[in-house]
Amino acid sequence: MELVFLGTGAAWGLPELHCPCRICEEMRRKGEHRTRTALLLKSTSPLLIDCGPDIREQLSLQPAEVPGGVLITHEHGDHYLGLDELFVYKRLMPRGAFEPIPVYLSAQSWEVISKRFDYLEDMGVIKVVLVEPGRWFTQKEWRIFPFKTDHGSFAAGSLGFLVTCREASGNEVSMLYTSDFMDLPALPEELFRPDYLVIQSFWLNEPRENRPRHMSFQRALEFIARLAPRKETFLVHMGDADMVPGDPANNMLKKYRPLDPMKPPGAHTPYPIPLNQDQWQKTVNRILEDRGLNYNVTVAYDGLTVVF
Ligand SMILES: [Zn+2]
Ligand SMILES: [Zn+2]
Repeated sequence: MELVFLGTGAAWGLPELHCPCRICEEMRRKGEHRTRTALLLKSTSPLLIDCGPDIREQLSLQPAEVPGGVLITHEHGDHYLGLDELFVYKRLMPRGAFEPIPVYLSAQSWEVISKRFDYLEDMGVIKVVLVEPGRWFTQKEWRIFPFKTDHGSFAAGSLGFLVTCREASGNEVSMLYTSDFMDLPALPEELFRPDYLVIQSFWLNEPRENRPRHMSFQRALEFIARLAPRKETFLVHMGDADMVPGDPANNMLKKYRPLDPMKPPGAHTPYPIPLNQDQWQKTVNRILEDRGLNYNVTVAYDGLTVVF
C-alpha cells in the first residue's frame, strides 16, 4: 500500500494568492507550495480522499488510473470543488464501458454538495453512497470506518475515516484520517492505535479564538497522545494563520493571536513560527525532543509518497 500526499495546504493553498505575509513570502522565495489537502491511497484499486480545486493538477502527476472510490470528508470547497474533474475518466472510456465512481460521504455533506454536483450522478460519472458514522463499509480491498468530527456548525456533515487494507502478505495496515476538525465528539475504540495517523496542523500554536474550528500542532499533540499511532503521524492542511512576531501583515483578518504559545523548557520566548518546510520539520522535532516525546511525526509536503 502506498500513501501519496497529493496536497497538504489549507483552504486557499500556500503561498496564498497575493499574500504579503512572512510565511507566504518565504515560501515564494524557496519555491515551495502546498495545494489543497488531498490523499491518494494506492493498492490494487486506488482510493482518493477529498477532491478539491487542485485535483486536476494533483492527479496529472499520477499514472492515469480511474480511482476505485472517493471519500469526501466534508462540504467545504477545498475538499470537494474538483469533483467535476472525475468526468474525464468517463470521457476516456469506450462508450458503455465506464462504471460510475463511488463517492462516499455523509448525508449532510451531500445535501450541500448536490446543489452543485448532482448532475455528476445523473450523468453516471459518480455513484453517491451515503455513509454513517460508526458503520464500517467496504470498497474493493479497503475496509473503511467513518466517524464524526467536530468542524463547527458550518460543516455539519464532517467525517473522518479509518481506512484499512489487507496486504497480499496478509497483514492489515490502518490509517486514520481526521481531516479538518477541532474536536472528536466521540472516540470509538476503532480509532485507537492505528498504524498511521494523518492529522491537520493549521497553526503551530492554538489561537485565542478558534473560529475556523481547525487543529493546531499544539493541540494535535494531545490527539497524538490519545490516539497513539503505532508507526507514524503525518501533518497536513497547513496554513499561514500563525502571527509571526514583527510581521506587518499580522493585521490581516486571517492571522490569529496565540493563546499560550509553546516555549522551550525554561524559556520566555516561544518557538519561532516555522516559515518553510524545513523549519516546520525542525520545529516539530525540537518540540517533541524538548518534551521527551518519542513520537514519529512527519510534516507532509505535496508529493510525499510513503510505502507501507
Ligand atoms: Zn479544509
Ligand atoms: Zn473545512
